[in-house]
Amino acid sequence: MTQPDSPDPIDAAAPAPRRSRQARVVWGREVVTIGGDAPVRVQAMTNTDTVDVIGTAIQVKELARAGSELVRITVNTPEAAEAVPHIREQLDRMDVHVPLVGDFHYNGHRLLTDYPAMAQALSKYRINPGNVGKGDKRDRQFSMMVEAAARYDKAVRIGVNWGSLDQELLAELMDLNAQRAQPLDAKQVMYQALVQSALGSAEVAREIGLNPDNIIISCKVSGVQDLISVYRALARRCDYALHLGLTEAGMGTKGTVASATALGVLLQEGIGDTIRVSLTPQPGEARTQEVLVALEILQSLGLRSFNPSVTACPGCGRTTSTTFQELAKQIDDFLRAQMPVWKAQYPGVETLKVAVMGCIVNGPGESKHADIGISLPGTGEAPAAPVFIDGEKALTLRGPAIAQEFHQLVERYIERRFGSATAAH
Ligand code: SF4
Repeated sequence: MTQPDSPDPIDAAAPAPRRSRQARVVWGREVVTIGGDAPVRVQAMTNTDTVDVIGTAIQVKELARAGSELVRITVNTPEAAEAVPHIREQLDRMDVHVPLVGDFHYNGHRLLTDYPAMAQALSKYRINPGNVGKGDKRDRQFSMMVEAAARYDKAVRIGVNWGSLDQELLAELMDLNAQRAQPLDAKQVMYQALVQSALGSAEVAREIGLNPDNIIISCKVSGVQDLISVYRALARRCDYALHLGLTEAGMGTKGTVASATALGVLLQEGIGDTIRVSLTPQPGEARTQEVLVALEILQSLGLRSFNPSVTACPGCGRTTSTTFQELAKQIDDFLRAQMPVWKAQYPGVETLKVAVMGCIVNGPGESKHADIGISLPGTGEAPAAPVFIDGEKALTLRGPAIAQEFHQLVERYIERRFGSATAAH
């Protein structure tokens, strides 16, 4: 086999992120920056009735504890608007200072004008230009919402959604397209309408007096290729911070994979300053699942670290026992369960890499790449499990207590490696 004289370097890093303006979303001393050099932020949305103050506050707390850095709530009626300051107070009493985002459609102009305590208790407003009003009411009602944001110095997401796209704008662009010598196909016109609705509304908001740094843009669609196309266009045409999300992603595996695929492509290109995974919860599934998926997307891309990662092989005919599957699951559960305490106790522990492998084929190699890894014996192999620490074989475990002993080794490794960071601070 011939070797090249000077092999091209293989660059493992993601492309440089797109430089965007940086928005500040503030509640009390809690400041969440979006865009600029801030990490990609995770958002979620409640599905409780906002009028239910306690139920909504509890779900906001759960979403925030799971890792959501902003939580959006529906503000759809006068009763919901009245509830918002009470939800905020309840959260503050529970020591949960996550900024709240109000989601407005149709009557936001009225609610933001008539309920100033609500307008102040929220840290950011989501305005959908397609649901602001029709005809000559549209501009006046949009202005009322933007004026409230400027008055209270709140960030605004101008959030276009293809399910509620401004139909007047779409019809206008369709007419113009029909007059072209070579008309674009209808999908192209729809993309143009999404982008134009968002950027045109942002322009109007700036003219009204909104600080452009406080503007965040989203154009959500439910198709993966559509989302990628629209956000690439947005990224080329503006420097506003961008909120990414596949709208109505769906349930379970489909919603998770579709969101991860679409967001993964864009984030890898440096596009996206904040994300939400719009999963439909399966019956009995926690609302926090959408947050866990969002965290995994960012961690898988190497953009942020939230939890220690466990590398495990899929298993095959070389390992017919379930021992390694059980051990991988136990270690993963154990690490996640400890994280709320460890985050404060062991700074940096979220970057830990553990490997649990099923046999000698890839076990030792993969374990050496982890901080601590174990290669369990496959079918027919000697009943011994070598453990690798920092790339070196450290010891071999044998007998029925391998799982417990490996747990202890992982704990001791964390204390030794990350405990010293606490002492140094
Ligand atoms: S490490 Fe061994 S058990 Fe695991 S998938 Fe590879 S060959 Fe199969």
